[in-house]
Amino acid sequence: MSSPTDDLYARYMAAYRAYTDHAETCTACTVQDPGTSCRGGLRLHESFARLQDAYNARLRKQGSS
Ligand SMILES: [Zn+2]
Repeated sequence: MSSPTDDLYARYMAAYRAYTDHAETCTACTVQDPGTSCRGGLRLHESFARLQDAYNARLRKQGSS
């Protein structure tokens, strides 16, 4: 069984993993926050944050309907 939500969740988790993998090896970034001087980390964190927002928004929508 698959749904758009599952796909969004999978992409959200993939983006989270991509960012945390980067943060573990990058001296400028932490798992919580990207380093302001690290463009790669900022980009990964931005796409992770965008997917997290979309995922949470969808959860809220489902909960209220
Ligand atoms: Zn970094």
